[in-house]
Amino acid sequence: MNVTATLINLYHVCKRELWLHANNIRFEHTSDLVYEGKMLHETSYPQRSERYEELEIGGCKIDFYDAKNKVIHEIKKSDKIEEAHEWQVKYYIYVLEKNGVEGVTGILEYPSMRQKTSVCLTEEDRRMLMDVEQDIMRIIEKEECPLVIKSRICKKCSYYEFCYVDEV
Ligand code: SF4
Repeated sequence: MNVTATLINLYHVCKRELWLHANNIRFEHTSDLVYEGKMLHETSYPQRSERYEELEIGGCKIDFYDAKNKVIHEIKKSDKIEEAHEWQVKYYIYVLEKNGVEGVTGILEYPSMRQKTSVCLTEEDRRMLMDVEQDIMRIIEKEECPLVIKSRICKKCSYYEFCYVDEV
């Protein structure tokens, strides 16, 4: 299995979710959040298709890539800027670099907050991502699923009922 931007994101959210997702245990079709996320992409920027391309590269699917200016636009429905989102975009930049596309930057967009954050990749980030890739492989190849994290984010997770079946 290859590391993908989704796995990089999940690594920063919850190692158990990372393991479940990587081992093809999925409940996303029942998740309102995923549905809302899709709707957000479709409704927030209806003009986008003319300006940006969808790009699939090295296991990553980048929804909005401005090839002319080498800028990745990643849209999030969250009402909070999250570290995991930043790492996802950094990973896109990292993968593009590995495929010979230099000088790419990213913009994280939060339409609900009308806020944007610039993302770039530093030398330290590159080293960190190499370590994270190895750690992800180590986690997902384990026989056992990591323990629940008992965090406030669990209630919004598509695995909530699965993880807390004895409690809900
Ligand atoms: S419900 Fe919580 S512990 Fe379970 S996968 Fe989701 S975030 Fe992780």
